Amino acid sequence: MTTNLPLAWRDEDVRGFGMAVGGPARVLRPTTADEIAAAFTAARASGTALALRGAGCSYGDASTSVHGSVLDLTRMNRVLAFDPATGVATVEPGVTVRDLWRLAIAHGFWPRVVSGTMAVTMGGAAAMNIHGKNNFALGSFGECVRSFEMLTPRGELVRCSREQEPELFHAAIGGFGMLGCFTKFEIETKRVHSGRLRVWGIVAKDLEHNLQILEDMRGQADYLVAWLDLHGKGAGLGRGLMHRADQMKPGEDPEGLRFLDPCLQDVPPTLLGVVPKGWLWPGMWGAVHLRQVGLVNWLKFKAGAGEQRNSPYLQSHGAFHFLLDYVPRWHWMTKPGGLIQFQPFVPQREGARVLRTLIEKCQAAGHVPYLGVLKRHRPDPFLMTHAVDGYSLAMDFAVRASKSGRDSLWRLCRELAEIVLEAGGRFYYAKDAVLLASSFGRVHGEPTVAAFRAQKQRWDPDRLLQTDLSRRLGV
Ligand SMILES: Cc1cc2nc3c(=O)[nH]c(=O)nc-3n(C[C@H](O)[C@H](O)[C@H](O)COP(=O)(O)OP(=O)(O)OC[C@H]3O[C@@H](n4cnc5c(N)ncnc54)[C@H](O)[C@@H]3O)c2cc1C
Repeated sequence: MTTNLPLAWRDEDVRGFGMAVGGPARVLRPTTADEIAAAFTAARASGTALALRGAGCSYGDASTSVHGSVLDLTRMNRVLAFDPATGVATVEPGVTVRDLWRLAIAHGFWPRVVSGTMAVTMGGAAAMNIHGKNNFALGSFGECVRSFEMLTPRGELVRCSREQEPELFHAAIGGFGMLGCFTKFEIETKRVHSGRLRVWGIVAKDLEHNLQILEDMRGQADYLVAWLDLHGKGAGLGRGLMHRADQMKPGEDPEGLRFLDPCLQDVPPTLLGVVPKGWLWPGMWGAVHLRQVGLVNWLKFKAGAGEQRNSPYLQSHGAFHFLLDYVPRWHWMTKPGGLIQFQPFVPQREGARVLRTLIEKCQAAGHVPYLGVLKRHRPDPFLMTHAVDGYSLAMDFAVRASKSGRDSLWRLCRELAEIVLEAGGRFYYAKDAVLLASSFGRVHGEPTVAAFRAQKQRWDPDRLLQTDLSRRLGV
């Protein structure tokens, strides 16, 4: 491996997706494993830490390093092979969920696990072990990784699978970029017989109703996800709209094969055929800043009854999974403060009590999330897993621009975190900006943290790989 290549660093503003954290950093965009190795060698020689970064879709500080150095892997984005018989893709780490589904669907396959945005890279997906709306059924992203190659900070290229270097395999997936840089993946996708899903919208009158639907349907449904109106109070606390989607069986959708055309997966770029969706965020900005989010949520909840009446309906995979991507720059509605997401994972037996308490606390504190998303999960075999046999509630908070507004939101989230930790819950670092170092051992348990630190010592003894997140958590 060549390690003395010239490296073109640039000064940039590197932030989390939520824009609320991050700042200036030196950025390098390698295109080959040799360039990554050269960056590792140079960093070791100068005693500089490096943060690995994919598309920067983590909401908080997982791939930022303020006043530090960042390796952005988005230009290592070649698809190396795709087997149309098995649906196994061999890709570089900068290949995105978008690249993967567009490639797979044309052959009658779809990624087994996708996030709510298709901008995410394979490297970021593996490092955070992302989950989709089918986590309760098919598990996490790591479960569809057959093997990967990782360049360690010591300069070794290690191939890992469930059979080869299994400890590193299970620690690096979900290891938030702390053990080495993924350079290649073999990823399994799943067979689909139609480009469309059968979708139901189901109105849930409160939190318990939402949880009951998840329990009742998780044995049959392929995908389940609930949007929650977190402004609902009293009898309407935790109300929302559940979406269930099922894959089609062979021949069930007469138009199914035609919809395998990637172009038919996208939703129209305009609203009602007229308004470009890129113009929507200023209206949404108005709703946030004129404090009308409660009204918007109430209207959306009321509209759910109409969707339930028209259910089931057929929807493309793309539209079902990535609706947010079709509203460009939607997160700008939270400018100038930006947004943070807080996504606790709570064991099933504690779900109703804990989630109800969290929602009530937000309402009492006057920081009501503008968006709530409830999912059902199952445990996975990875060392630093965030999954539980239970639920997650992703809560999106607009951050107020004032220091006092920001501080009080951080205080609230830490109070919420305490309730979750006491109930045996966990946290997902792709969505975190607030946890304290003292929480790290409580999220995973001290023996697991010790095992992870041992892996870090083995593969990255000079602690070359660091991010703002890892420093905040004292990894
Ligand atoms: C609109 C939106 C919706 C989302 N929906 C979901 C969802 O439904 N489910 C879900 O699980 N997540 C979801 N996410 C979060 C997202 O999936 C994760 O944050 C994911 O890790 C982002 O990948 P990325 O490529 O942007 O990586 P980044 O955010 O840039 O980095 C994430 C982590 O990966 C590490 N990393 C990146 N590349 C490499 C590499 N080559 N080798 C080693 N480590 C690397 C980084 O150091 C960092 O720790 C969503 C995010 C957004 C913005």
